[in-house]
Amino acid sequence: MNAAQEYELTGPALREKLAVLGQTDYTLEACEQYADTIAEIKRLKAARRAVILAHNYQRPEIFEVADFVGDSLELARNARDVKNADVIVFCGVHFMAETAKILNPERMVLLPDLRAGCTLADSITGEALAERKAELKKVYRDLRVVSYVNCTADVKAESDACCTSANAVKIINRIDSDNVLFVPDQNLAAYVQSESTKNIISWEGNCYVHHQITPAEVDKVKRAIPGIKVLVHPECRRDVLELADAVLSTSAMVRYAKESAADKFLVVTECGLSDRLLMEIPEKHFYKACKLCRFMKMITLEGALDSLRYLRYEIEMPEEVRVKAKRALERMLELSA
Ligand code: SF4
Repeated sequence: MNAAQEYELTGPALREKLAVLGQTDYTLEACEQYADTIAEIKRLKAARRAVILAHNYQRPEIFEVADFVGDSLELARNARDVKNADVIVFCGVHFMAETAKILNPERMVLLPDLRAGCTLADSITGEALAERKAELKKVYRDLRVVSYVNCTADVKAESDACCTSANAVKIINRIDSDNVLFVPDQNLAAYVQSESTKNIISWEGNCYVHHQITPAEVDKVKRAIPGIKVLVHPECRRDVLELADAVLSTSAMVRYAKESAADKFLVVTECGLSDRLLMEIPEKHFYKACKLCRFMKMITLEGALDSLRYLRYEIEMPEEVRVKAKRALERMLELSA
């Protein structure tokens, strides 16, 4: 029996599963290779006592080896609760793996490719935030800083609380101040401002993937397919949000699509989510107005395998930063409970 048979996923079975995506690069040959790699990853995962957490924007073949697939908030909760494992392999981007390490320092946290960064996280540093905060505190004595989790540990360490796209409005409305510096996503800040009476001061960062989506692209599909439900991620521009039937985080989109009576959806976020939806709900139709995140797509099956083989690349940070960042993340988990 070869490894693929032992783990019950053959190349033809994988090809059949991925056919729903309509992508020509999932040939039988490619799927046979993937099936072998998937089997080897599963074998090594057991040997290393490892778990694999994967973000919704990952490649479809990565979902096959993941113990859990979700958005930032779900992954943070899962990373925190990992107990019966020694290693967490994080199939996502750098700041997400950092979040796992911040919340679960006992485990070895690995990111398969160190190039998996994020333009949004790179738009701010802990130092720049500390300066801006000091400046604003002269004007707003009650100022609080809320950072979207898409930022580095240094930035989280300078924040009073973190938030995700799923709970941003709730965190802002529940934090004990009327004046909030919200970093680093200007689009999410604008969305939160539209849902809150508090004074939101925003940073000028954005996610290059969501920021490039235009209302014209969305409008074109809406006109062509009457009755289609438009689901938009709040990292998109305001003029795109205005065309939405629902503004939702990625996992909320999954729930919405499963529970809705509608059967046609336009999914306006990174393309990986449409792939997940097509695989999980094949009886409904998902149209893409999405873009690829080049950082998310740097994680491959081969990279995940090497990560387990050589225990690389380990995420580490100064303990002082970790403890402060953890406080901000825990505040988010308390406020969003
Ligand atoms: S989708 Fe945007 S926010 Fe997410 S990792 Fe890519 S660049 Fe960063």
